[in-house]
Amino acid sequence: METIEPIARMVQELSRLPGIGRKSAQRLAYHIAGMKLEDVRSLATGLWEGRKAIRYCEICGNYAADSQCDVCRNPERSAAQICVVRDPRDVAAMERMHDYHGVYHVLHGTLSPMDGIGPEDIRIRELLNRVEEGGVEEVILATNPDIEGEATAAYIARQLKPLGVRVTRIAHGVPVGSDLEYADEVTLSKALEGRREM
Ligand SMILES: [Zn+2]
Repeated sequence: METIEPIARMVQELSRLPGIGRKSAQRLAYHIAGMKLEDVRSLATGLWEGRKAIRYCEICGNYAADSQCDVCRNPERSAAQICVVRDPRDVAAMERMHDYHGVYHVLHGTLSPMDGIGPEDIRIRELLNRVEEGGVEEVILATNPDIEGEATAAYIARQLKPLGVRVTRIAHGVPVGSDLEYADEVTLSKALEGRREM
């Protein structure tokens, strides 16, 4: 247990971050304790200001600095193709491969009856609205290939079928149970290329 109170406080805050265990938090806290005060201020202000400036794109739900994200605002991206992902990190992963030229729809979660997350709790209605507005030719379901991701894709496919749009599912190039965001560019590119009709 950390006995120096100010360090214990920093350890406690840092431990809230994903992937940061007690040991890593302590190592970071001791590192920060040895940093110049103005450097710590810059770190803290950067996080604070950055977080405050984050907005959600009014079209796709991705993180944005403005009312619309960079992808939705880009006239070179095709609005006829919508790639549906779980969260903004997946958009970042897809964008890293530079192989996709459509737009996105961020669900901000996946269906999970065990956790009480139903269709109204994620952005499915917003997706259907976008498709109903017209101009969409294909919806690519790129939720993770785990149980919840598959169930979410199947549910959305059923909702989209009556709307007469092409619905595809990315191939299982992404290892089952792993996150899209950890897939490398080549794997992701192959998963997109090998997508199948649902
Ligand atoms: Zn957007």
